[in-house]
This record gives sequence, C-alpha cells and structure tokens, in this order.
Amino acid sequence: MAEKGEMIRVEKLNKSFGDLHVLKDIDMEVKESDVVVLIGASGSGKSTLLRCMNFLEIKNSGKVIIEGKAVEPNKDNLNKVRQKVGMVFQHFNLFPHKSVLNNVIEAPMMVKKLKRAQAEKEGRELLAKVGLADKADVYPNKLSGGQKQRVAIARSLAMKPEIMLFDEPTSALDPELVGEVLSTMKELAKEGMTMVVVTHEMGFAREVADRVVYMHDGKIVEKGKPADIFNNPKEQRTQDFLSSIL
Ligand code: ADP
Ligand code: MG
Repeated sequence: MAEKGEMIRVEKLNKSFGDLHVLKDIDMEVKESDVVVLIGASGSGKSTLLRCMNFLEIKNSGKVIIEGKAVEPNKDNLNKVRQKVGMVFQHFNLFPHKSVLNNVIEAPMMVKKLKRAQAEKEGRELLAKVGLADKADVYPNKLSGGQKQRVAIARSLAMKPEIMLFDEPTSALDPELVGEVLSTMKELAKEGMTMVVVTHEMGFAREVADRVVYMHDGKIVEKGKPADIFNNPKEQRTQDFLSSIL
C-alpha cells in the first residue's frame, strides 16, 4: 500500500508572546486523511498551535511544513498557503447582512475570482452537504448556533482546502446543538478530509480520531491512538487531565 502523504509537519516549533513562552519545541505530523484531536487544559497552547499551522500567528523558531514545503512567512504568499488550510473557530463570525449562500460564496468569488453562477452552484452543494440546503437564502440571525457553525464549515470548505483546522467548534453551542456539528465533522472525516481538531468532546475523539495529542504547558506530553490515550495513558499528567474532564 502506498505511504500516506504528509500534509502538515511541525518541527521544533516555538512561539512566545512577549515573555510568555507558549509553544515549546513542538513536533507534530499530520498525514493525508488523518484526523488528529488535540486536547489539553485551557492555556496549554492548543489554539496558538493551530493558528501557527495556518499562519494567523507566526512562529518564533522551528518549521511549519505544509505538503512538504517549509513555509517562510516573510517570503511565501501566506494567503495562498491559507487557502490550503481552512479553519473553523469557536465563534462563527458570519456576515449578518449577507444571506447564508452569500456568506459561503464570498471568499471564492473575492479571492479565487469564481464567477457567481459557479460559486452559487458549489455553495448550494456545500450547504446540502452540511444539511442546510433549505437555508441558502435566509440570514444568519434566523439560524440556531449549530446551523451557523455548519454554515461556517461550508464557508471554509468553499475554498477547497486540503486540510481543515477546527478550534473548539462546539464549545459555544448549547448542548443539544453539539451533535449536529460533530456529525458534519464526522462526515468530512469519512470522506477523507485531513483534520486537526481541538475539542473537549471525548466521544468524538474516541470515535473519529486516528491520533490524540495531549498538550500541557506548551508541550506535547503524550500522543497515540485514542484507545491507548484514553484507556492506558502512560503519563501521570495525561491521567490527571483525563480524570479531571471525564
Ligand atoms: P488554549 O487554546 O490551549 O487555551 P492558547 O493557545 O489560547 O491556549 O493560549 C496559550 C497561552 O498564550 C495563554 O497563556 C494565553 O493567554 C496566551 N496567548 C494566546 N494568544 C495570545 C496573544 N495574542 N497575546 C498574548 N498572549 C496570548
Ligand atoms: Mg483555545
């Protein structure tokens, strides 16, 4: 069987905010169609790591390698790189004055210069995929939080990313709305999307993740298959964290 391609590799990544050293020699690899779930306490550096992977934050040292190419923020076109790496945030930030469909097609039209008819066709397909075909023409304020987040996922997919990063996509949702967003993400995973997901949804991690990575205080403490991490964590810190949340 062919070796899976490498999508993201991070090597000895360090990131500080002033005196605060937030990421400490992080090494991590994500292969094609892998789902990696990143867990850890608040403040451990999970968001900063994701943001470094699509260059919303710029590392201080180390490497961020996207599809085999080390990205140099001062030389490379970061907008081009970001098109490969989509990101979904806890807060969806849809444009309130645009319809759902127009939210989804904004970036492909503006950035990729897609013609409206084609953008709309693709946008409607994406809305159907996230279960919102009937919401194309409504405004975001008519949607539930779970629906808004699914629109945000469709919007990100509209740029045809090769990798999707999710930063606590269900943390701001009422509990009864979490499931629909996780199902959408599960579908994406099944279709082979490469995903890095920060979440506290351990059921999702167990079921969908190929690997779970536990971060503490800016370092990767332990990584492995979900069954190993959840049933037999090797490190005391991992055990303590899991017993604090499960
Ligand atoms: P997590 O997502 O695991 O909760 P973050 O990556 O958001 O952790 O934050 C890690 C640490 O970095 C925290 O102490 C946070 O306060 C700090 N931090 C994050 N972003 C910034 C920023 N832009 N400026 C200063 N400090 C930041
Ligand atoms: Mg965070």
